[in-house]
Amino acid sequence: MERVFNFSAGPAVIDESVLQKAASELMSYPGKGMSVLEMSHRTSMFMDIYNQAVSLLRDVMDIPETHEVLFLHGGATMQFSAVPLNLMHGHNVADYLDTGNFAHLAAEEAKKYGTVNIVASSRADNYTNIPDLSAVSFTPNADYVHITTNNTIYGTRFVSLPDTGDVPLVADASSNILSEPMDVRRFGVIYAGAQKNIGPAGVAVLLVRRDLLGKANPICPKVLDWALQAKNESMVNTPNTFAIYMIKLVCEWMLQNGGVSDFHARNREKANLLYDYLDSSKLFKNPVQPEYRSLMNVVFVTGDEAKDDAFCKFCAQNGIVNIKGHRNVGGMRASIYNAMPLAGVQKLVETMARFEKQV
Ligand SMILES: *Cc1c(COP(=O)(O)O)cnc(C)c1O
Repeated sequence: MERVFNFSAGPAVIDESVLQKAASELMSYPGKGMSVLEMSHRTSMFMDIYNQAVSLLRDVMDIPETHEVLFLHGGATMQFSAVPLNLMHGHNVADYLDTGNFAHLAAEEAKKYGTVNIVASSRADNYTNIPDLSAVSFTPNADYVHITTNNTIYGTRFVSLPDTGDVPLVADASSNILSEPMDVRRFGVIYAGAQKNIGPAGVAVLLVRRDLLGKANPICPKVLDWALQAKNESMVNTPNTFAIYMIKLVCEWMLQNGGVSDFHARNREKANLLYDYLDSSKLFKNPVQPEYRSLMNVVFVTGDEAKDDAFCKFCAQNGIVNIKGHRNVGGMRASIYNAMPLAGVQKLVETMARFEKQV
């Protein structure tokens, strides 16, 4: 069967050349006579793959040596717990910016371990914007400040970072990591579930400044203890070996295709195409305050559920799938991560225009 254009929010599209490479190496990893799926994580053949994944990711994201790179279990959600368990010491207070569903969930989880101050929220606006950062008053003695750089469900993103002074900035970047340059030096921690922009589900990437390690809460489970994971090269227990291998392939593919800055340019082109169409459409509209529009997740609605459903069906007949919006927003959502080609967005816009003409 011909491949469809898959606009899923995650697990999401992976570039065809990456999938082909994985397929070609699946029976026997070059020179090894066994699949990566069959390798012990303790062997040098797997450690080679692991080390390549780390060093390629360092290249792609320009991660300085001040920061450790870890591949962990449990997705981004597990890090909602790991963040307070590793960083809430001293004052046991953290500031959270509530800019979407996942930001809210991260804050709720952190409340189990200490005091959480919601220092800004766009909840009352149904998360259609990012609060004005210059108006936020941060807690001076907070252990960290947590943000969600791109809000996957509501289709918003931070366009600048808050100035948190000496307080470490922690970011859930699950849905925009690798899509645009990020100055890693500005963050204490960046974490991301892999299944949006990095690779398959089942692994979370964590970048942590080394001086923040080693102060975990004594109740912190071993697998969530970043210092212990750093000491053990993400192998306190068996890691998701296949997902780590896939991260290596995705990073190689990115470097062969111009790296983050070229992907960013292509991502802007794709997003502009879609937003320009939405702004000109009489049927579809994007509810987000324009300056905060996400480059990765484009939300749009007709305002009529029956039309939304009809449109999703029309898409499916035209090789466009997983376009239905999240239940919190309704309507549609097109996730246009790095691996979504421009042709997919062109096809979507063309399909929207044809639908609009016939209703
Ligand atoms: C998808 C997503 C999550 C949840 O990721 P899991 O890996 O399923 O835990 C958290 N935060 C953001 C911003 C996401 O996009």
